Amino acid sequence: MDGKSVKRGQRILTEKPFAFVLKSQYRLERCDNCLEATKVRKCSNCRYVSYCNRSCQTQAWAQHKHECPFLKSIHPRIVPDAARMLCRLILRLQHGGDLIRGYYTEHGSRKFRDLMSHYAEIKNDPKRLEHLDSLHAVLTDMMADSPSTVPNKSELMSIYGRLITNGFNVLDAEMNSIATAIYLGVSITDHSCQPNAVATFEGNELHIHALEDMPCLDWSKIFISYIDLLNTPEQRRQDLKDHYYFLCVCSKCRDPKEARQMTAAACPNRKCSASINIEWNNCKRCSVGISPKLRNAYNEIMALTKHNLEAMKDVACKYLDVCKVCLDKQAGLMHPLNVWHVKTLDAAFEAAIEVGKWEEALDYGQQLLPGFQMYHGQWNPLVGLLHMKLGKIQLFERHHKEASHHLEEAQRILSVTHGRDHRLLVEQLYPLIFQARQEAN
Ligand SMILES: [Zn+2]
Ligand SMILES: [Zn+2]
Ligand SMILES: [Zn+2]
Ligand SMILES: [Zn+2]
Repeated sequence: MDGKSVKRGQRILTEKPFAFVLKSQYRLERCDNCLEATKVRKCSNCRYVSYCNRSCQTQAWAQHKHECPFLKSIHPRIVPDAARMLCRLILRLQHGGDLIRGYYTEHGSRKFRDLMSHYAEIKNDPKRLEHLDSLHAVLTDMMADSPSTVPNKSELMSIYGRLITNGFNVLDAEMNSIATAIYLGVSITDHSCQPNAVATFEGNELHIHALEDMPCLDWSKIFISYIDLLNTPEQRRQDLKDHYYFLCVCSKCRDPKEARQMTAAACPNRKCSASINIEWNNCKRCSVGISPKLRNAYNEIMALTKHNLEAMKDVACKYLDVCKVCLDKQAGLMHPLNVWHVKTLDAAFEAAIEVGKWEEALDYGQQLLPGFQMYHGQWNPLVGLLHMKLGKIQLFERHHKEASHHLEEAQRILSVTHGRDHRLLVEQLYPLIFQARQEAN
């Protein structure tokens, strides 16, 4: 424990990864070391990874030299990201990595072996075992020339378990996942759906910022969110149980009000803004009746929305017309803060931006804000980014007053979640604010 008090927005941890891999889909467009999207050149030996310059290649060599021959041996095949990450962890541990410590305070530190492995749970999880088997097969293939490098099954399972439970998605400035990484020190941090700290990244470096003032830096009282918070408590608990093997008992998960709000219907009385449980017979606020017909219509649109969002989940570019059909049918049935409505607005916002329909994007983005703030929490990078996108579009549409408002909101939030000197602010946000001020005069 550290005696000094912590202020909102203060960076309480900066950490370099113990091991990390760039997602293979970015192999030809991002540097394997600094993760920068730029012109890159391949490693002349394995021709698998690429670097932006000499210095990055040299820096990466200490780790890459061990995996390079294995990546070369299976050329031109693409290695699944989890297999490459396991390969890196195995080699790192075999070359002194077991002694490396990640510090979360001056004296508090963790080694790779200190991380949770959930060995017993994984051993009884058929899905995980199947995944591990497939990864084992890839590793055996890659390491065919050096079979003794492949750990035995139980050792591999303990490494795999630590990866699954402690792995971070490294995000770029737009919050896209570009790499997987293990950071040792930060693994001390537990999850909450109402976190008081947040993880952001600059290249492969992890930063933890406090979202609240705290009397002192006590890591047992610091929580970050491991999951997508724009989900019902039921879904969040399922995600956490499937992935991290624990039951979330945070205040939000225990609060029945949140679950109710997230699946609320709109009151059929247009003048009433109450959240309705569709199983009720009457609105508790204005007493208007809820007919079986209305109940059916609500259940139908919920099912349609879930189906369509699920179908678009892994599609990078969402379909604007599909979103519009859902939104039209949701109107008057779903409460504006119903999480499925909020998710649909989110998809519509992204889709409208994708095809350059700025007026529509503005409309969806503005409707999205209250739900985003409510469920992600007000100090959340996604809320800050939403303001920044709205500000950018308003600027483009020459609505200078509105642009300034959103950009200032973005600055207020992102300087807490990312820090004032983060590249996202310095390279993107500040120039936009400057432009908005210039054009307003
Ligand atoms: Zn680089
Ligand atoms: Zn290489
Ligand atoms: Zn929770
Ligand atoms: Zn009502």
